[in-house]
Amino acid sequence: MLANSLVELDRRHLIHPLSSYRGHEQVGVRVMRSAKGATLTDSEGHQLLDGFAGLWCVNAGYGHESIVEAAAEQMRRLPYATGYFDLGSEPAIRLAAEIADRAPGDLDHVFFTLGGSDAVDSTVRFIRYYNHARGTPQKDQFISLSQGFHGSSTVGAGLTALPGFHAGFGVPLDWQHKISSHYVYRNPVGSDPATIIDASVAELKAKVEEIGPDRVAAFYAEPIQGSGGVLVPPAGWMKAMADTCRELGILFVADEVITGFGRTGPLFASEEDGIVPDFITVAKGLTSGYAPLGAVLMADHVYQTIADGAGEALIGHGYTYSGHPVSAAVGLAVLKLYEGGLLDNGRKAGERLMAGLHGLSDHPLVGDVRGRGMLAAIELVTDKDAKTPLPAASEPSRRIFDRAYRNGLIIRAFGNGAIGFAPPLCCTTEEIDEMVARAGRVLDETLDDPDIRAVMKGA
Ligand code: PLP
Repeated sequence: MLANSLVELDRRHLIHPLSSYRGHEQVGVRVMRSAKGATLTDSEGHQLLDGFAGLWCVNAGYGHESIVEAAAEQMRRLPYATGYFDLGSEPAIRLAAEIADRAPGDLDHVFFTLGGSDAVDSTVRFIRYYNHARGTPQKDQFISLSQGFHGSSTVGAGLTALPGFHAGFGVPLDWQHKISSHYVYRNPVGSDPATIIDASVAELKAKVEEIGPDRVAAFYAEPIQGSGGVLVPPAGWMKAMADTCRELGILFVADEVITGFGRTGPLFASEEDGIVPDFITVAKGLTSGYAPLGAVLMADHVYQTIADGAGEALIGHGYTYSGHPVSAAVGLAVLKLYEGGLLDNGRKAGERLMAGLHGLSDHPLVGDVRGRGMLAAIELVTDKDAKTPLPAASEPSRRIFDRAYRNGLIIRAFGNGAIGFAPPLCCTTEEIDEMVARAGRVLDETLDDPDIRAVMKGA
């Protein structure tokens, strides 16, 4: 009864992120009611294993009392403090210091945002200011990767290269450029790691030459492209791109909104990649989704240039909720959990997940299995030799998600037929095995779909 009225209220009043408005009016909402560990319960009492940690954010898993207590205590004591007027709060200061302490190299300075999109926006503003401060204001062009995702603000959506975020929105902006993704499974240069790295480096250099060598400000890349389909670059790719940026006098921004905070193993994927970017953006796992928070980590040389350039002048960038004390208190509590065993558990669970997914490789639909840590995908095809994507008529995104849901599993179903996994780091071996078993059932049911059968090679 309650659920039904909620469905109706939702249909009438709530605009959902990333949804087909007309489609949503038809299908309605599935209301999540509660969660514990890696299991969600919906309003009809269905139990679902959350193979996607909400939106790749609930890295710690659900129901941690220490996080709830930290938030409640901070709300009681001081629910809000601005960072304007040289004021501040203890949790924001402590969290900035803890992050800086753990960040690679000289990424010593932290600017808090509310999430990932405004973190990416902030880097663009900081980089423009930086170039202004050092007397190179003509460096105002930005490059990112095809298949990349950098948020849903106008600036972030323009750096993003997923068509659904562009059409009708007037982006990308004319200073936003793209080069090809490393997409190993479908790279026109083949799948040899060294060849892919060389091709990416050459393309970046060519793009900078085309735009104008003294015009390019920065290059953005995710250590693993998330929303583009969990695309893992060849080992050494991030380092080669970071080195090339340095050589070309371009700042390198690692967008770790998904990969940060244990998703791939360590706190920062950049650590594994052996790089010290000029900026790292984080969000999601920073608070494990218990409260909204994002951050920009800024290298010391950038900070000093901006600070010197501004002198006593105010640097006009900041949000009402920059460094929100409740979100920051949550961030501190979550960090304790990560370092109190969750990162270790995530590493083990990640190995189990990858092994389990590789075990599905022989399924007739599985063309590719890829991932690192607790971030993985399988890409479905109807012909393994030709790597033919699932037909649009089989509505891969909706039908695969629905099949998973009916099997008690939440996954991300990408439009091209890839299935993404990003479970909470707290998962037990049994939970990971059960997720993989349920995913296997989803594959079998997908194979039975008449729209797939009709085009399956050898059918
Ligand atoms: N950058 C990356 C790599 C992301 O994956 C996302 C969101 O998924 C964002 C930025 C935007 O973050 P938010 O949705 O918190 O604004």
